[in-house]
Amino acid sequence: MGYEYNTDNIFAKILRSEIPSKTVIETEHSLAFEDINPQAPVHVLVIPKGPYLSYDHFAKEASDQEIVDFNRTIGEVCRICGVQADNGGNGFRIISNTGEHGVQEVPHLHVHILGGRWLGRMLSNV
Ligand code: AMP
Repeated sequence: MGYEYNTDNIFAKILRSEIPSKTVIETEHSLAFEDINPQAPVHVLVIPKGPYLSYDHFAKEASDQEIVDFNRTIGEVCRICGVQADNGGNGFRIISNTGEHGVQEVPHLHVHILGGRWLGRMLSNV
């Protein structure tokens, strides 16, 4: 069975400007905006503009241009937010929750960029 993208999801609505978001950076193929419920001083979501459910969907079906743009946008957000690994940044964590086991709430590919404080170990025990 193929990937089935539902255009009713909240990030699709943000891309259509049906609901507001706080943009960090926008490119031809990607949008980065602040998470509405931040879990750290820096908590930015990066999404592709195309209709992709997950990272595996994106990696399989996106164009090379979309994939390059998405990854460069992630790097640019890290620099804009000052969490990059050089020039005084203290680092960050990238998370892309996927599907049921990954506890994905919004079915449009998104990468969380978290930083601005020590983030603890990778996973909790819950
Ligand atoms: P998840 O799908 O579990 O990886 O996370 C979805 C993320 O989207 C959560 O961190 C939410 O706080 C965030 N979120 C939900 N609605 C909005 C919105 N309208 N604007 C910005 N972030 C949102």
